[in-house]
Amino acid sequence: MFGVVVHGGAGAVARADTDDATAEARRAGLRAALAAAHAILAAGGPALDAVEAAVVVLEDDPGFNAGRGAVFTHAGTIELDAALMDGATGAAGAVAAVTTARNPIRAARAVMERTPHVLLAGPGADAFVRAAGLEVAPPDYFATAERRAQLERARARGAVVLDHGGDTPNLGTVGAVALDAAGRLAAATSTGGMTNKRYGRVGDSPILGAGTWADGRVAVSCTGHGEAFLRTAAAHAVAARMRWGGAVLEDAAREALADVRAAGGSGGLIGIDAAGRTVMPFDTGGMYRGQWLAGDAGARVAIWGEGVG
Ligand code: ASP
Repeated sequence: MFGVVVHGGAGAVARADTDDATAEARRAGLRAALAAAHAILAAGGPALDAVEAAVVVLEDDPGFNAGRGAVFTHAGTIELDAALMDGATGAAGAVAAVTTARNPIRAARAVMERTPHVLLAGPGADAFVRAAGLEVAPPDYFATAERRAQLERARARGAVVLDHGGDTPNLGTVGAVALDAAGRLAAATSTGGMTNKRYGRVGDSPILGAGTWADGRVAVSCTGHGEAFLRTAAAHAVAARMRWGGAVLEDAAREALADVRAAGGSGGLIGIDAAGRTVMPFDTGGMYRGQWLAGDAGARVAIWGEGVG
């Protein structure tokens, strides 16, 4: 058994506000990410490589709020957060508020493999990206006209607009979870955060146990109101319910999301367990999501309440 699940953000994406071309472009992005991960898993490769590959595809896609196409801070800059975790070994790496890494998830992996640390942030993380020889990109590479327009609208309203808020049909924090043929689990998440966020703000995505988690039982990647996911340790809460409460993945995920809601946030998550069971719950208008499991004819993706098909 092996499989991969991806998300491209959860939010108040109304079907009526989304034109067909945009929806199809997002579906194509999800399929490309699933295909990249599936190729690795089908060849017997590690779950960690698969989730990294899927997230790189989505970071490079300007339609998602990660890497190219990320949202702007109030200061008009782009600050990127990413993390990945290997459930088989417990190894993990993360970066927060990086501005130069073309693929923040690759920087997170380099932190895991080339430093004794787990999380590097801000200018120190950017210095590490350069020193490690990772691909860098200028600010213009990440910036898109659509995200700049979102910032202008948010500034005009004096609001910090959650990426999954009603202001935009374009969501986009991205994540992937995978189980490989050897039974190893891994999770990865990458984001630009929230439009008009304070510079220096770090969300749940790069924080292990909040937006990203993997162990021997389950791998989880979250999207939504980062502060609520942080305050409920949402990704780890799924794993804890399974480990100590004996919960099955479906119940653990639903209950963790209920806690996020009780904490004043909304969003969604993806999860896969050691048996290859998958979940993709969300309590928002939609969530870009999809999966490709061993035995499936191809990637299956969805945006709204429809089943993944
Ligand atoms: N969770 C992300 C953050 O708060 C945003 C999102 O998923 O839309 O940074």
